[in-house]
Formats: sequence, C-alpha cells, structure tokens
Amino acid sequence: MDTSTATAYSDIQDSANTKLPIMELNQIHQVYFSDAGEVEAIRDVNLSIQPGEFVGIVGQSGCGKSTLLSIISGLITPTSGQVVIKGNPVNGTSSQTGYMLQHDTLFEWRTILDNVMLGPEIQGLDKKKARKRANDLLDRYGLAAFKDKFPQELSGGMRQRAALARTMCTQPEILLLDEPFSALDYQTRLAMSDEIGIILKKEGCTVIMVTHDISEAISMSDRIVVLSARPGRIQSEHQILFPSAGGASLSPMASRDTPEFGQYFQTIWKELDFHVSGSK
Ligand code: ADP
Ligand code: MG
Repeated sequence: MDTSTATAYSDIQDSANTKLPIMELNQIHQVYFSDAGEVEAIRDVNLSIQPGEFVGIVGQSGCGKSTLLSIISGLITPTSGQVVIKGNPVNGTSSQTGYMLQHDTLFEWRTILDNVMLGPEIQGLDKKKARKRANDLLDRYGLAAFKDKFPQELSGGMRQRAALARTMCTQPEILLLDEPFSALDYQTRLAMSDEIGIILKKEGCTVIMVTHDISEAISMSDRIVVLSARPGRIQSEHQILFPSAGGASLSPMASRDTPEFGQYFQTIWKELDFHVSGSK
C-alpha cells in the first residue's frame, strides 16, 4: 500500500471541514468471458461514498450487484475502471473492507468464539487481543451466552449476528453486505435488519449493502442507488430522509411506519418495474 497517499488523505480529512469520500468508483466496467460467450455485467458505474454513510444498492436479480461488491472488495479486478479507497487505488483484497456473504459461511467445527476470532488470526493479530475483541463484539451483539456453542446450535438470526461479528472483528473501515438477510424467514429478516441496522449505526462504520428488497434498503440506508437491469448502470439515487420524525434518528423498524417510507417505496418500485415491463 502507498502509505504516503494514505497519510495525505487523513491529513486532509482532519484539517478540512469538507469530508473527502472514503470510497470512489470510477467508470467501473465488467465483462465476464466464458465458453458460452461474453456477459456484460456492469457498465459505467461512478459512485462516491462518504465516511459513515450507509448506502443501499438495489436492483433486480442478475443485474450485477454481487459483481459490484466483489469488485469493491478487490476479489475481482474490473475489466476497466478503478476503485479508490481513502485515496488509494484498490489492488486485491485488503483488511480495509469486510465482506459478508448471503450465506453465513460459519465453520461448523469451530465454536462461535473461534469463528469470530478467525479473521484476526488470519491477519496475524496476537491471540489474546483477538480473543478480547471477539468477546467484546459477541457481548455487544447479544451472543455472550453462545460463545462456546457450535453454529448448528444457533438460530438463523443468531448465526447471521455471529457472521457479522466475525466480519467486524477485523475492524474493516467499509463493510460490504450481500443480501445479508435473504436466507432468513420473513419475520426473522425484519427483526435482523432492525437489530443489525441499529448496531451498525452505533459502530459508525461505512456500509454498502446490496439487496433486491426495496423495503429493507429504505429502512436501513442513508442513500439508495438503483441499478438498471443488466448490464447494471446507476439509474437513480435517492437520499433517504424522514422529516416527519422531526429530526429524530429512527430505527429501521420505526422508519417503516412513516409516510415517507411509502413514497420512497412507490418511487423505487416504479423505477425497477419499468425495466421489467420494458424488457418484455
Ligand atoms: P446479482 O448479484 O445482481 O444477482 P451478479 O453480479 O451475480 O448479479 O451477476 C450479474 C451477471 O453476471 C449475471 O448475468 C450472471 O450470470 C453473470 N455472472 C456472474 N458471475 C459470473 C462469472 N463468474 N462468469 C460468467 N458470468 C457471471
Ligand atoms: Mg447477487
């Protein structure tokens, strides 16, 4: 990593009142090549994200959402374009980003505590420090009594919280969530999006969450980016504000009861629906 650029970024961030973006996507373009031919997944995506912002990316299945997250995480190098995090171009994976996949990928043969300690262990962090960090997180996420249990002894919602604790244990500056609740039943999904939304707001972490669930995105995000059908392009952006709450910060669950929620839903639903009927 180019540390001189990183220092320059933090100097500017501290000295100026204006916040620099924590992450920028510049002209991202992704084409997959396979025996079956070429698939253009992402086209001309430009996006700038502020520190602490929670950005929801919504779009139909197959529009390139997971591809975009994998590019941000450094797992995929885009066909063209660049991801810049804190002033430095992304070149491969790094601990700056934490990537939580749709299925929790907990190791069944490790206890919950050992699962959460996995990331710091891989990073080579001192075992004592890793254990302390993991214990703190499990306490905060309401899993203190389950540290020594194995994943199969936990409910779906608890597993998802444990997976989040494991991702957060590496202290990522940007958290990437790929359809984090889609494997859960409807009631658990509502409860989990509320709990995790509240936890992440408290942590102050920058979050990018992709989902095809418009309600989930509206309830959790500060801003929503709507992707078009494949190839995924940015179709629109919506700043999510609830003025009827009189400036109070609403939990994801409470935000669902506001009049603004329904309006955002209608607007975004129509945008996505337009592309379904347009492709007929
Ligand atoms: P989403 O997450 O929005 O459902 P994806 O990013 O998974 O969409 O996929 C976007 C498009 O790219 C799809 O048409 C998918 O079939 C294709 N695709 C994804 N991964 C690959 C790959 N490794 N090789 C070829 N095509 C792929
Ligand atoms: Mg996907």
